[in-house]
Amino acid sequence: MLASPGTAVDSHCPYCALQCGMSLTRTRADGAPPLEVRPRDFPTNRGGLCQKGWTSAAVLGVSDRLVTPLVRGTSGELEPTSWDVALDLVASRLAALAAEHGPEAVAVFGGGGLTNEKAYALGKFARTVLRTPNIDYNGRFCMASAAAGMNRSFGIDRGLPFPLSDVGGAQAVLLLGSNVAETMPPAVQHLAGARAAGGLVVVDPRRSATARLVGDPSTGAAERPASAQPGEGVHLAPVPGTDLAVLLGLLHVVLAEGLADRTYLDERTSGFDDVARSVAGWWPERVEAVSGVPIGELRRVARLLAAAAPVHGGAGAYVLTGRGVEQSTQGTATVTAAINLALALGLPGRVGSGYGAITGQGNGQGGREHGQKADQLPGYRKIDDPAAREHVAGVWGVDPETLPGPGMPAVQLLRSLGAPTGEQARAGGPVRPRALLVHGSNLVVSAPDASKVIGRLKSLDLLVVCDFVPSETALLADVVLPVTQWAEEEGTMTSLEGRVIRRRAVVAPPGEARSELWVLAELARRLGAPQSLAFPTDPAAVFDELARASAGGPADYSGLSHARLDADEASSGPGLFWPVPATPADGSGTQVTGVTRTSDTAGHPGTPRLFLERFATPDGRARMVAVDHVGPSDDVRPGAPIYLVTGRVLQHYQSGAQTHRVAELERLVAEPYIELHPVLGSRIGVADGARVRLTSSRGRVEATARWTDAVRPDTVFMPFHWSGIGSVNQATTDATDPISGMPEFKVCAVDLTPVPDS
Ligand code: SF4
Repeated sequence: MLASPGTAVDSHCPYCALQCGMSLTRTRADGAPPLEVRPRDFPTNRGGLCQKGWTSAAVLGVSDRLVTPLVRGTSGELEPTSWDVALDLVASRLAALAAEHGPEAVAVFGGGGLTNEKAYALGKFARTVLRTPNIDYNGRFCMASAAAGMNRSFGIDRGLPFPLSDVGGAQAVLLLGSNVAETMPPAVQHLAGARAAGGLVVVDPRRSATARLVGDPSTGAAERPASAQPGEGVHLAPVPGTDLAVLLGLLHVVLAEGLADRTYLDERTSGFDDVARSVAGWWPERVEAVSGVPIGELRRVARLLAAAAPVHGGAGAYVLTGRGVEQSTQGTATVTAAINLALALGLPGRVGSGYGAITGQGNGQGGREHGQKADQLPGYRKIDDPAAREHVAGVWGVDPETLPGPGMPAVQLLRSLGAPTGEQARAGGPVRPRALLVHGSNLVVSAPDASKVIGRLKSLDLLVVCDFVPSETALLADVVLPVTQWAEEEGTMTSLEGRVIRRRAVVAPPGEARSELWVLAELARRLGAPQSLAFPTDPAAVFDELARASAGGPADYSGLSHARLDADEASSGPGLFWPVPATPADGSGTQVTGVTRTSDTAGHPGTPRLFLERFATPDGRARMVAVDHVGPSDDVRPGAPIYLVTGRVLQHYQSGAQTHRVAELERLVAEPYIELHPVLGSRIGVADGARVRLTSSRGRVEATARWTDAVRPDTVFMPFHWSGIGSVNQATTDATDPISGMPEFKVCAVDLTPVPDS
C-alpha cells in the first residue's frame, strides 16, 4: 500500500551502485507523480546527490512511458494490445520454438538494474520453466572481470569487501580506471582523507574529472581546482590498454625496494614466489617504454602507497579498480595484478585498508548474486557444483537433474542469436537461440560491436522486451511488455559495498504497467509450470524464497527479510551487509566466506568487513596469481592509428534510455561528442566544433569534435550514451577477456577523419 500524500518515504536512487539515500514524497492523492526527491543522510552519499539523482523523479512521468503491451502487427508497426493477447502470444511462440528446436532455442538477457527479487525470479524462470541454460545479463559488460579476479584471489566476490566510508580515513588511494567525480560524485567525499594526505593516485589515460581532483603539477597545474591543496596526489596517464603493465611495475618497485609486508605475505597469502618472479622483468624503464608512465612517477606512487600501508605505520591504503581497467581482454589479469599489489602491501582483510572494485550499475552487485548469470545459481553459487544444484533445486521443488548447466556468457550468447545460415546450418552443431527475452537491458546501444548485435536481434524469430520506456531495443521487438520502475515497486537492491537496502513504492504504476514478477508468473502458468513451482508476485515473498535459496552460499541472505530490513532502517540502521546467515537453531554460529560469526538472538548483524580473519579460500589464504601484460586485442596500426577510449558523462546513465528523457539533463548534454587533442585535430584537419568521423574495422560513428588537452594526442574519448550514428559501440570490439567473458569496451584502434560538408 502506498504511503499517504505528503508522507516522506525513505528509498534510494534508481541509477548507479552508490544507491544514494533519498526521501521521496508524493503530493497527489490518486497515487500519480509528481514526486519530490530530497537527499538524506545515508552512508554512501551523506546527504549528497548528483544531477541524475536530483532529477530522477522526472523519469516516472515521461511522455512516451509504456503503459500497455505492444505487439508487432501485420503493418510492421508495434500496436497496443491486451496483456492476455501479448502473454498468450509470447507463451505460445516460446513453447513452439522449444518444441521444435529444444529448450536452448530460447534465451534470456537480464540486467544489473533489476531488483534482487526480479533477478532471482528471472533465473528461476529460465532454468525451471524454460529449462534453458542460455541466460546471462548486462553485468557481464560491467563487473565480470572484477568478479572473476576477486573470486580467484579471495574465494568470494563482493565489489567492496568493506564499507565505502572506511576509504575516507585512508592515507592513500590508488584509483584505476574509475571516474567517480563524474559517474558517482557523492563518492568523492570518501577520498577526502587521501587527498588531504597527498595520497590520491588516479590512473586514467584521460585527465578526467577525477584526475583533475588531484591537481598534480605534472599533469597540468592550470587544471587545479580552486579547492585543491598542493600535492593532493598523482595522475598517471598511461597509453590506453597498458594499466596492467603499470601495476606490474608498481609491484616490481615495491619488491625491489623492500617495501612489501613480508609477515602478512607469509601468514595470509599463497603464490607469492611465482608472482615475485613474474614481475621481476617489469623494471620501471620497461614500464615507461610500454605505458609512457615516467619512471620517477612510478617509483613515487609505489613509495606513496607503501608509506600509507599499516606495515610502515601508515594510516591505511586502498587499491580500487573500475571499468576503465576491467573492460579489457586482460581485465581479469589487471584486477589480479591490482590484488597482488594490495596483498604485497598487506592491505586486504585489514580495517582501514584493502582492495575493492567500484561497481557501476544500480544493482550490479545483487544482480550477479541471485541466479541471472550464466554460471551462477542463487546465493552466488556455482551452477556446476552438485551440492549447490541439490540445495537450490530443493528450494524450487524440482529435480536437480532437470536444471540446465552453465550457459554462454553475454557476448557469446549475443553472437549465437538467430537461426543458423549457410555453412553453420550445414555443419549442424549446438542449438542457437531463436527467441530472446530481454529484461532491463538496452542492447542496441550498450552491447559492443553494436551493429552486428542489431542484425542478430532482427534475425530472431521472437524478440520480447520488458521495459518501461520504448528503448532502442524495445523498438526492434516483436512484443513489448510495459513494466514498473523504481519508485513504483517494492524490493531490495545491494549497493556496491554489499549492503542490502530497501527500494519502496511511492507512486502507482501508470496504465497497465505491471511488475516483471507478475509477468514471469503469468508466463510460467501459460507455459504449463506445475502449481508446486511457485512464482510469487509479492516481492517480500520472493525475497523470503531468495533468502532460503541463498542459505549457506557465499552471498548468504538467509537472515534477512523485508520486515527485518524495514525494522533495521526504522532504528536508524542503513541496511545490512551480506553475508547475513540465519542464526543456526543450535546457536553455535557458522563459519562461511572467511568470517567467523557467533550466534545472535537478534539476528545476525551482517558482515561489513570481509576477510578480517581469513579469506574465503579453502586454506583461508588469499591466492596470489602471476599474470603478464599482453596488450589490447585491437592495437593501433596503419589505417587505425588512434586509440579510442569510451566512458560516461555526469548527466547520462548507461544507454541513456532514462536520462535522455529528462529535459534538465538533456539540456546540459544533448549530443554525442568526441574529445581529441588540439595537436591531433590540427594534424588531421578537424577543427574544434566540427563534425568528425570515427572509423574502426567494425563500424563508423560521427559526432562533434571537442578539442581538449585532457586527452593524449594519440587517443580520443567518446561517451557511450547515444544510439544511431552517434553510438560509439558501433566501433568498439566484442573481443572478450578469456576468463570473465567481459568485452573490451575501453580500448580499440580507430581512424579519425573530417566529415565532408554535405
Ligand atoms: Fe547517487 Fe549514483 Fe544516483 Fe547520482 S546516480 S544520485 S551518484 S546513486
